[in-house]
Amino acid sequence: VYWSLVSAAVAGPLGPLVEDVLPLVEVSAPTGTCDRDWPYELVRLPTSDFWVEFRPEHAWGTPVMVHVLEHAVNRLALHHPGSPPLLVGDIAREQGGALPPHRTHDDGRSADIGLFGWSGRVEDLHGGFPRLAPSQLDVERTWAVMDALLATGEVEHILLDQAHIDRIRGWLLETGRKTPDELARIFPDRDGMFSWSMTGIVRHAPNHADHLHVRVRCGELPPFPGT
Ligand SMILES: [Zn+2]
Repeated sequence: VYWSLVSAAVAGPLGPLVEDVLPLVEVSAPTGTCDRDWPYELVRLPTSDFWVEFRPEHAWGTPVMVHVLEHAVNRLALHHPGSPPLLVGDIAREQGGALPPHRTHDDGRSADIGLFGWSGRVEDLHGGFPRLAPSQLDVERTWAVMDALLATGEVEHILLDQAHIDRIRGWLLETGRKTPDELARIFPDRDGMFSWSMTGIVRHAPNHADHLHVRVRCGELPPFPGT
């Protein structure tokens, strides 16, 4: 039995997050004209049975962001039917702009997403993303979401705590789902060069043990690969 980490009934405001550590090295230059075009229009994340929003007023993203999230939950529903809804934290305000305590989340291109766990207990929630030890991670479902995000080719990066990255990377290797070469491109060494500029990258950031942060590219809505 998979446990949802939270239910819509108990989802409350997120606590302060000291997060959104910016990448030390840009993987690739922005492909679009977001900066030049700002302020562009953000769109409201549609309601869905496949996700739970913590704060509807902070659920505004670029069309690419909304489409990427929809793609991820649709693929999760297809390949992992019966999964609990994805927890969607802050994206951006309707008009964008500063969204403390985040350092990003000002332009609709960043979103915080909950991780899947084996035993999320309601009393552990404290109104936000429950903190998970790596051993509590539902690796298969969490990776399914990350993989679906990356497969869109629209992800600039995903930030996650290194302990979770290590668990996921180890599982992908042990189960033969990825080769060491593939893993090196997806999860670069923290001090090394990385090169997965085609489809995105996953890297460590402090304070991301209870959620992942996904950053999408600028640009037009692309055709996404099928599920
Ligand atoms: Zn974030």
